[in-house]
Amino acid sequence: MIIVMQPGATEAEQQGVITRLEREGFKVHLSQGIERTILGAIGDKTRLKCETVAALAGVEKVVPILQPYKLASRDFHPEDTRVEVGGLVVGGREVQIIAGPCAVESRAQLLETAAAVREAGATMLRGGAYKPRSSPYSFQGLATKGLEFLAEARERTGLPVVTEVMDQNLVAEVAGVADVLQIGSRNMQNFALLQAAGQTGKPILLKRGLSATIEEWLLAAEYILNEGNSRVILCERGIRTFETYTRNTLDLSAVPAVKHLSHLPVIVDPSHGTGRRFMVAPMARAALAAGADGLMIEVHPNPQEALSDGSQSLNPEEFAALVREIRPIMAAGGRLGEGWAS
Ligand code: PEP
Ligand code: MN
Repeated sequence: MIIVMQPGATEAEQQGVITRLEREGFKVHLSQGIERTILGAIGDKTRLKCETVAALAGVEKVVPILQPYKLASRDFHPEDTRVEVGGLVVGGREVQIIAGPCAVESRAQLLETAAAVREAGATMLRGGAYKPRSSPYSFQGLATKGLEFLAEARERTGLPVVTEVMDQNLVAEVAGVADVLQIGSRNMQNFALLQAAGQTGKPILLKRGLSATIEEWLLAAEYILNEGNSRVILCERGIRTFETYTRNTLDLSAVPAVKHLSHLPVIVDPSHGTGRRFMVAPMARAALAAGADGLMIEVHPNPQEALSDGSQSLNPEEFAALVREIRPIMAAGGRLGEGWAS
């Protein structure tokens, strides 16, 4: 249930409500808004009825949460959540552009790409050190070495690093380097991984599962939020449909849907969403027009030679052109960052 406290409720009244809920076995999450405080209480409603809680001092009203996800719902947290990443904000006024190679292939490849995407206007660097590949015979990533290169690229460019963690046992290692932990599509419902990643307190980029409904996606986010980590960024990356021309079907309708249902920021990955280079820029423009808080774009110095996802990767010039093309859309939405002033 959601407990909306009165605007003038005292600290003692708030604590009184929390104590009572916890005594009845509820887990209480606090959402401190500008105007008022909202408590999200998850537990057995037969032990404490909504009416009883509504009668406690300082309580304005109690609303049952109808959706299966609670902490991810807008009812619990009416204001947009802003996720802070190394001085940047995802879900705020400014759009964030995450760019970089699908996989970290070598020190030279990563450093060259990092410098190029930064120069073009990217605000964060992506690159997989551990790669989830559909075939066990495909390039699996440079693992620990890849993480070292990512750390060096961050040092040189100042760009925060987004990289995937594929396994619960790797969470500590990857979190030691990453500014944002990416949970890939194939792992969206790896609940033990979601919990372990959530426990690090790091921002988590949660990609939508290949065939996940919006509800399943938000329930996956709920696992992270339930660990006390509210720094979740959702990423629409296309879903499986009957269409085979594109690698996936980029579901841009998920952007306004998620924004309606949830307070979490949502970004779009048109690279995996289409699988085709020429479609990346148009769908990036469409994503921002639909209200996305950011983009994730695969960029490679020489896509023809990429060890993974070359056909959807842009070269640095194409990425720079994409950034120039989205600029008027960002400006129209009032979402250009400081660095874009000139
Ligand atoms: C990736 O971002 O490189 C990736 C593997 O994405 P997804 O999990 O969306 O397939
Ligand atoms: Mn990829």
